[in-house]
Amino acid sequence: MRALVYTAPDCVEYREVPDPHPQPDQALVRVEATGICGSDLAGYHGKSTRRRPPLILGHEVVGRVANAITGSGLPIGQRVVVNPLQSCGFCYGCLRGRENQCSNWRLLGMDDEQGGFADLVVVDKRCLTPIPETLRISDAAMVEPLANTVHVFDMLKDYPPERLLIIGGGTQGALALMLAKSIAIPQVWVTEASSARRESARALGADTVIDGVPELVLDAVRETWPGGADAVLEAVGTAATRDLAVRAVRNGGTVVLLGLHDQRSDADFSSIVRKEVTLRGSFAYTRSDFAASLHLLVSGAISATPYVRELPLLDGPSAFARLSDAPDAVLKILLVP
Ligand SMILES: [Zn+2]
Ligand SMILES: [Zn+2]
Repeated sequence: MRALVYTAPDCVEYREVPDPHPQPDQALVRVEATGICGSDLAGYHGKSTRRRPPLILGHEVVGRVANAITGSGLPIGQRVVVNPLQSCGFCYGCLRGRENQCSNWRLLGMDDEQGGFADLVVVDKRCLTPIPETLRISDAAMVEPLANTVHVFDMLKDYPPERLLIIGGGTQGALALMLAKSIAIPQVWVTEASSARRESARALGADTVIDGVPELVLDAVRETWPGGADAVLEAVGTAATRDLAVRAVRNGGTVVLLGLHDQRSDADFSSIVRKEVTLRGSFAYTRSDFAASLHLLVSGAISATPYVRELPLLDGPSAFARLSDAPDAVLKILLVP
């Protein structure tokens, strides 16, 4: 088969590799499209300790079942999305339905699990979710990214914010904006450094869009929302944006952190204590978040289609190189074998 193989930092090669062979409880999936995730890019740059060359990256997979899988009820040819997060099923998190907190989690396109930038991919049969033929490929490939967003909003459901500040207008920030609007959060602001992405945020219905300079954001927030934002969603992960999140939230507000740019950063813990800020990390998604995400896309409540671009897998090397330069208005690039 043909595959895009990560061979060295900043290098992926489109080449012939042996076909993968599924074990009895595994599924062989013929790939329809696989989305490029920020974490694939981090791996490509050599910044992910669990993505070592040679490796086929990619975990946002849409495809069709290509082998007979006993006990799955899924026929050959069934269209599916893959839940690429494999949890152990017996640790503390798994036993409480928190597969994303699994102590032994594995992901497609990581460690020795060959990923989806290929003609074929082998996955555990439990990872398959059937999808309708009518679901556009651009929406089907967003099920996994949107599941992360569903997980974030699940954390906010006990105290639904009226004033939400989203820091970062990339894929996760934009999906959060769409979801926030679909559940009628009255005021949703987005701060973003790229002008192309600010444009997208406006088109997606953000009530206010601000350049990402922290002092400008704080001035605007304080002027319009005395006391600050009810909740801040931090979707960048730098020291500066994490600090901004804590400063922009109101007393008693919630900051959800999902950006992973910097490993460590300083925090103004005195303010966190005095303001009684709730700081929550959000990582990946549970099975029920994944199902809820699929429902949002199948029902049409959310569609990212205008912001998704399909490219042939052959163009993977240039797509990875370009994504590493300037971010543009496209929120997701899908590679199609
Ligand atoms: Zn992803
Ligand atoms: Zn587990």
